[in-house]
Amino acid sequence: MLKPLTSNEFKLEELNRHKFEKLSFDKAILVTGATENHAYHLPMGTDTYVAYAVVQKVARMTPGTLLLPPIPFGVSDQLMPYPFTITLTPETLSAVIFEVMESCILQGITRFLIINGHGGNNSAIDVAMRKLRRLYPTAKVAVNLAWWISGPKLAPEGTFGPDFGIGHAGEAETSAALYVVPHLVDMSVARGEWPSSPREVRVSTTIPETSRTGATGDPSKATAEKGRALITALADYLARFLKEMDKAGWNFAGAKWEDLAL
Ligand SMILES: [Zn+2]
Repeated sequence: MLKPLTSNEFKLEELNRHKFEKLSFDKAILVTGATENHAYHLPMGTDTYVAYAVVQKVARMTPGTLLLPPIPFGVSDQLMPYPFTITLTPETLSAVIFEVMESCILQGITRFLIINGHGGNNSAIDVAMRKLRRLYPTAKVAVNLAWWISGPKLAPEGTFGPDFGIGHAGEAETSAALYVVPHLVDMSVARGEWPSSPREVRVSTTIPETSRTGATGDPSKATAEKGRALITALADYLARFLKEMDKAGWNFAGAKWEDLAL
């Protein structure tokens, strides 16, 4: 019988073979992060730090979960003009995600949850998931594409305003960073910007075309407490999601989402 873990005995890079063979994993979580400019006040690794904080909580609550090392680079071409951004092409990121999951499948883990740290990664994740299901039809893969939307929505009512603190380096993201890596946040240089955009049309732009600082939201109302609320709420949700998937044998149609307020 698998028991929830209290230590970090789920981080793949920290396990040796002896330990790995004593433990039992039936699913894996992968974080897709980014290394990119986050205005003046947040660290370049914010997207990876936040998503990895969420999944550590999830893994601790979910027996049998192997936490893969996070992928630190994402598709960040929209931020390239700002120092100091590293970007992969969507094709490269998609290949990395696919090959990481394929390695797991070849060694017996076929169930995956991806937590995405950065919006630019979405299309690469989608392509990798489709390829995985095409080549390994019995594998299962689920994704949370946007912690910065899911977390604030799931946080207790009133934590964020009606816009849920949206925006790159905005209220929600800055709150999450203040909770996860407070020593790396400099609120004395936090500046907000609110570029407007058409509601029903997506225009292909780079962030410098719409923002001087690289922010597209308001970090001034951010607090570590709001960050704790959004990260805890999302981790709880994802742990409940995995529990229900496990109960249903990862047969999506057999799961009862309504019972879980999911
Ligand atoms: Zn970010």
